[in-house]
Amino acid sequence: MKIVKTVNEVREIVGEWRKHGLSVGFVPTMGYLHEGHESLIKSAVTQNDKVVVSVFVNPMQFGENEDFNSYPRDIERDSEICEKAGVDFIFNPEVSEIYGKHFSSFVNMNTLPDGLCGKSRPIHFKGVCTVVSKLFNIVCPDRAYFGQKDAQQLAIIKRMVSDLNFDIEIIGCPIIRESDGLAKSSRNTYLNAEERKAAVVLSRSLGVGRELIENGENDAKKIISAIRNEIEKEKLAKIDYIEIVDMNMLQPVNEIKESVLVAMAVYIGKTRLIDNFIFNQIE
Ligand code: AMP
Repeated sequence: MKIVKTVNEVREIVGEWRKHGLSVGFVPTMGYLHEGHESLIKSAVTQNDKVVVSVFVNPMQFGENEDFNSYPRDIERDSEICEKAGVDFIFNPEVSEIYGKHFSSFVNMNTLPDGLCGKSRPIHFKGVCTVVSKLFNIVCPDRAYFGQKDAQQLAIIKRMVSDLNFDIEIIGCPIIRESDGLAKSSRNTYLNAEERKAAVVLSRSLGVGRELIENGENDAKKIISAIRNEIEKEKLAKIDYIEIVDMNMLQPVNEIKESVLVAMAVYIGKTRLIDNFIFNQIE
């Protein structure tokens, strides 16, 4: 399976597919693929004639003190995984191919990027929206696949595609977890053995919150406080945020009376991990 490095080559290959009326699915990633990415790829392979996966660690979405340089990379392994999964090619550009010398256009958004992860990562979603827009314009897929794991990102991409009239269907895919509940993430490789054990506190504490809601508790403060108490039992954990927000504008709610997103970011040692669940009132 081919690893394509240039925008022109992507355009040539996809252009040929288009001439033959073939549908194209697209899975944008930062690589170091795991079963979470694989589930997105599987959906894409099932639903489209051709599938493109991008592997690009996007410098624009990392803050100055974040892990751009240390982010794990292994394009050979990624390529094997994609080949087995039936991907047609990987787009793996150099940074200079995506951001030329005089690059100066950005895609930004009001409101949705302000809360949740946006609070401690203020430039993150500007970088995400900019690169995803570029990738959409390069690959021109019919459908693009994003994980619920990054729930705020998924909401932002859906909003962006609607606001800017991208002719692309955005498909959200469920969170894939390790057997103990930890959401799969490329960043899990940063955890040492003790931290790995501690990291299960994210999904465990979300379970506490879910149970409360399912048993009729609708006071968001009480639910957040129960989740917080559970996390604070774990000495390696430090809370970045726990929030309960509405599904449309991601604004904090006081009372659970519609579908909500319960989301958190927690540091385990130096590693910042995220997790969430959606509670559908109509479930
Ligand atoms: P990343 O490589 O971390 O930028 O992720 C690429 C895509 O894979 C994003 O849409 C993520 O939401 C999705 N993803 C990452 N981890 C998981 C997971 N555990 N389950 C489902 N999707 C995931």
